[in-house]
Amino acid sequence: MAATMVRAIDVGYMRLAGAANAFLIRGDDGHVLVECGPAATRATLFEGLRAVGVALTDIRHLLLTHIHLDHAGAAGHLAQHGAHVHVHPFGAPHLANPEKLLASTRRVHGSAYEPFYGDMAPVDVAHLHATTDDVEVRLSGRAWRALHTPGHARHHVVWLLEAGSERHAFMGDLAGIVVPDSDWLSVPTPPPEFEPDAWIASLQRVIEADPTHLWLTHGAGVARDRAASRRFLERALLRLRQERAWLEQVVSAHADDAQALDTYRAIESAHVRAAGMEAARLDVLLDDAFFRMNLAGARRAFAPREPRG
Ligand SMILES: [Zn+2]
Repeated sequence: MAATMVRAIDVGYMRLAGAANAFLIRGDDGHVLVECGPAATRATLFEGLRAVGVALTDIRHLLLTHIHLDHAGAAGHLAQHGAHVHVHPFGAPHLANPEKLLASTRRVHGSAYEPFYGDMAPVDVAHLHATTDDVEVRLSGRAWRALHTPGHARHHVVWLLEAGSERHAFMGDLAGIVVPDSDWLSVPTPPPEFEPDAWIASLQRVIEADPTHLWLTHGAGVARDRAASRRFLERALLRLRQERAWLEQVVSAHADDAQALDTYRAIESAHVRAAGMEAARLDVLLDDAFFRMNLAGARRAFAPREPRG
């Protein structure tokens, strides 16, 4: 039964219920975990697995949508217990040697999120596997495909699990972030790899894949049939286009970062309020660090470029 085939495990990211999940799919020959949360919350993840009768050594495969630390930070620790880690080829070297990834995370977020990430362990290269786009692989007795889906990050993939008439899509950040205790779909556009056109094409690719279930790392199970999945993906597409328009407008109007931040926050807050959300609750995730990250991504994405030779 689908309801029990995928089990979401809340990793307690930022000490917020529902902020980030890992997904357990049991197999006959070890189990698969999609995402693992940051290194800082691995004890919560491990406890969540133990609570459903799963030993760490039974996790045979860890599938990552991308290497941002709230998705992949604990990968090295799981690999130490025997998990094989599957990740886009651009992401693999950074898991083997996480120094650059940690430095770039500090650059993007400043110190704001530092306590939420924790100490990453490198993944042993013998346990690292680079994904091939849209090629079926059998893992723990089930059929999986990684669709390469750039836009939020160049190394982002959406994992598709084929199970009879069902096709489960593990979306990573591609369909946005459902802010806990709200219905607001937030769109994270971090530097250096936010590419709005690629992101739109990636979402369209997932729509064409026609999933029956959607799992968001930040939001868990958001759709459990074909029609609901389609509706949610269309909504994500709409939000992405909307966010892109706001960001493009803000960065072109304000060369000054403080002014850009004020204007962007005002636009987003007005829409959040119009959607019936309490601004105070949303401040928890939509904080200044989040707005700054999105603006930095937009500055880079919308900067005039030299033609490539
Ligand atoms: Zn991300």
